[in-house]
Amino acid sequence: MSDQPTFDVPFKSDVLPQRLDEDSQIRFRCHKGISCFNACCRNADVTLTPYDILRLKDRLGLSVTEFLQQHTVLFEMDADRLPGVKLRTDDEGACRLMMEDGCSVYQDRPTACRYYPVGHLAMRPKDSASAEHHYVLIQEEHCKGHLEDRHLSIGQYREEQGLLPYDEMNRGWYELLLKKKSAGPTVGKPPELSLQLFFMACYDQDRFRRFVQSDAFKKMYILGQGDYAKLAQDEIALMEFGYRFLRQVLFGEQSIPGREGAWEERYEQRKEVFELRRQAEIARAQQQEDDKYQNDV
Ligand code: SF4
Ligand code: SF4
Repeated sequence: MSDQPTFDVPFKSDVLPQRLDEDSQIRFRCHKGISCFNACCRNADVTLTPYDILRLKDRLGLSVTEFLQQHTVLFEMDADRLPGVKLRTDDEGACRLMMEDGCSVYQDRPTACRYYPVGHLAMRPKDSASAEHHYVLIQEEHCKGHLEDRHLSIGQYREEQGLLPYDEMNRGWYELLLKKKSAGPTVGKPPELSLQLFFMACYDQDRFRRFVQSDAFKKMYILGQGDYAKLAQDEIALMEFGYRFLRQVLFGEQSIPGREGAWEERYEQRKEVFELRRQAEIARAQQQEDDKYQNDV
């Protein structure tokens, strides 16, 4: 028995295909001359990983905060309301980064877009410390790439799509989500503050950087001067530190030395502020949905 798989499938589909592995052969080719060119991006449902956000904001010359405001929408990833971030679409559901001649951010396109039409399943078998990675082939009517005469393995496809460095950078993210999923009710529903911290550490790196460098953080945790300097300058180090921080906050893994009682004191001081921010973010998401609905009718 294994945990429920994490589907990393970028485009809307009801299909539940057969599970594939690295050596499984697929038939597929996508190219500019194909009749369905851009069809997938006209119905995009792209969940972003924290690493995707870093790549895309650099590509677009934006800060993380600007990127989140201009190009993403919030959603809840599970019944515990774990926050996720998707690429914003236009009113018809098309990705706003799509151009007539293809993806405008192709070299830095998100993980899910690289995988399509392969879906990535990360799962952790019971009693195993490490994740297993499997794949599915999403066959949708609009995608004519499945009719092309080219056969290759999933491994070759992943390499061709530049997914090896992406998956390496996403590893901590996959592990965090799997840990959350497999912990289930044993750790209980995360309190509101943990959900806010999850959002900040995973997605809003500008705010997380300020938090880590703040006096408030230094009152709660003990890090060396070299650690602070690295976390101020190196966004990949900060992303990885965010996963470590969240494993401590969500699952009690003690890898960052803390000052006793400081966290509880901070929580009491800040919980009203976090609640106000949460309500503002929900209101913003609701407003976007309302605007979209009004444009639809
Ligand atoms: S980011 Fe690029 S590949 Fe992904 S949905 Fe948008 S246009 Fe398509
Ligand atoms: S072949 Fe599939 S992936 Fe390529 S453009 Fe067409 S619909 Fe998109």
